[in-house]
Amino acid sequence: MAEERHSFPCQQCGAQLSYQPGTQHMVCGHCGHQHQISIDNRGIDEVDFYSALDQIQDTQTQIVSLAVKCHNCAAEFEFDKNIHADECPYCGTKIVNDSHEYRHIKPWGVLPFKITADEATTAYKKWLKRLWFAPSKLKKYARKNQKLNGMYIPYWTYDCATRTRYVGERGTFYQVPQRVRVRVNGRWTTQTRMVTKIRWQKVSGRVGRHFDDILIFASNSLPRNMARELAPWDLQHAVPYQEEFLSGFRSEMYQTDLQQGFDIARQRMHPVIKSDISADIGGDQQRIHNAETEYGNIQFKHLLLPFWVAGFRFGKKSYQFIVNARTGEVQGERPYSKWKIFFTALLFLILVVLLLGFFGLSQIHNAPLDTPIFEDLIYILPDFQ
Ligand SMILES: [Zn+2]
Ligand SMILES: [Zn+2]
Repeated sequence: MAEERHSFPCQQCGAQLSYQPGTQHMVCGHCGHQHQISIDNRGIDEVDFYSALDQIQDTQTQIVSLAVKCHNCAAEFEFDKNIHADECPYCGTKIVNDSHEYRHIKPWGVLPFKITADEATTAYKKWLKRLWFAPSKLKKYARKNQKLNGMYIPYWTYDCATRTRYVGERGTFYQVPQRVRVRVNGRWTTQTRMVTKIRWQKVSGRVGRHFDDILIFASNSLPRNMARELAPWDLQHAVPYQEEFLSGFRSEMYQTDLQQGFDIARQRMHPVIKSDISADIGGDQQRIHNAETEYGNIQFKHLLLPFWVAGFRFGKKSYQFIVNARTGEVQGERPYSKWKIFFTALLFLILVVLLLGFFGLSQIHNAPLDTPIFEDLIYILPDFQ
């Protein structure tokens, strides 16, 4: 059984209310009436990972919603009869409105929109203007067709306490004198130099760390790296999930599930644990031969974060731009104009040739022919032992 998203009709005229970014109210697009959202103060609970995985069939954690899918980029959004799905917000492809049921874990929290569509458009235009080597046609096209869509994008956050047992080696530098034969200006002499060597010593030990709120992007519709560039997010301002904050916006369904999200989080923890081990080993250099990590007390939250998204097809490809709807930070994919790069490179080459013509050649001519050339040949002799 699918539950449809609530609609919030205006008490004055019956038109749809939409959440007004940066505020605590919804506003009627028709008559301007404002409706205050009563904030739920229950806080955002973190849930135990394993019990959630066990109860994945449980109706308490799971809800069924209606979703529509883009057949070009595979993004899945919550079907909302109030928002007429026409184009995919990520890639600009026309969406056929064949909704289907989608079983998923309920979002616990939402970080409401703060940046308005106008502010996001300004940030996006500024960003476009600064783009180097973008085809002029694209810039023009993007400026004209910049329809930014407000999207809530799914994320997981994980907390976890790790305990790692490791086996490795500690390397300590020491210096030994070494005799070397050196030829300077044609004469051989013997010199003593100090050479740094390293002594390795077997070590083993344990390290532990508590990871808090590792944020994992749970959508496949945007490149993961592009989304990561939009960080940081002020997660401390997230509020318990309430549909009022979603009214007027689209929300995307997660495609990275709870377990896959944790696997990515583990990859994120790995370098931190590794540097903890190195610090624990100490010395001048470290080798880690084996490390076994236990992940305990895993808690997670499912959050929705606000994005302004523009996606459009240009030529044969689709391009995406995203704006962090809390900070106004912009990221995007961009094509390069081959011609612009070619002419810039050509101009640069001409400049180099001209400069060489003026300065380089004259300097080569002026170089005195009798400049001495030093030979510094080093032969290493056996160590003092
Ligand atoms: Zn109204
Ligand atoms: Zn799409």
